[in-house]
Amino acid sequence: MNISALKKVKALFLDMDGVLWTDKKEIGNLQEVFEAIKSSGLKVLFGSNNATRTPEEYCEKLASFGVHVSPEQFFTSGIATIYQLRKDFPQGPKVYVFGSPSLKKLLRDNGFEVTEENADVVLASLDREINYEKISRAMIEICEHGAKFYATNTDSTFVTENGWRPGGGVMVNCVETCTGVKPFVIGKPNTVMIKMACEANGLSKDEIMAVGDRYETDIMGGLNFGCPTGLVLSGYETAETLSKLDPKPDLVCKDLAELVNTLQNL
Ligand SMILES: [Mg+2]
Repeated sequence: MNISALKKVKALFLDMDGVLWTDKKEIGNLQEVFEAIKSSGLKVLFGSNNATRTPEEYCEKLASFGVHVSPEQFFTSGIATIYQLRKDFPQGPKVYVFGSPSLKKLLRDNGFEVTEENADVVLASLDREINYEKISRAMIEICEHGAKFYATNTDSTFVTENGWRPGGGVMVNCVETCTGVKPFVIGKPNTVMIKMACEANGLSKDEIMAVGDRYETDIMGGLNFGCPTGLVLSGYETAETLSKLDPKPDLVCKDLAELVNTLQNL
């Protein structure tokens, strides 16, 4: 661990599932953790690959744990998708969403036309109501109408109260398999989200730490961006899986409370 590099950190780019909560259950005492973050002067930005909720819904979820934040602090893969699509299609694309109702709402709220046919873009994401018709529609839009293929994330699994379940990557794979087309992936380990968070908050690469529970997305995303990284062992990775991974994150802590405490006492 390079202590002088970690001392420059002014903001945490926090993953949520497996860091803040396991589905509906908070990890540790979030109210206390966020009070400690506030007193340390660190800024909090949220960067989750999970695109099934809007920033407002995440604010409500955090408020239920006594933590009050604002929608501007969220840079989820859904939000970053909007940023990327505006850049790639300045005229405003028509989007076929193979994803959750919240993702459709987020796109509509941001002025995008969500369509069932003749789309410019197929956007694949976690869809708990996946069916053959939706996969066929995505295939038709890409193969017959020339729509470009985007994915909010390719996570293989995500954690629920009852254990690990299939993630958005499963929907992406369905479309990729039948079309033979690889998507532009927005989520971590790509750097669209963290870049956007830094630009919006005037932060440089050495001032933000990518924090998460999963090496292949959260930590690789930070390494790809070139910022400090912090792994918490409250979710996906364990001391055993970590021992096989290289390079190691700059910080490895049991949970977010310990990570904040470590940064505070450098
Ligand atoms: Mg996670």
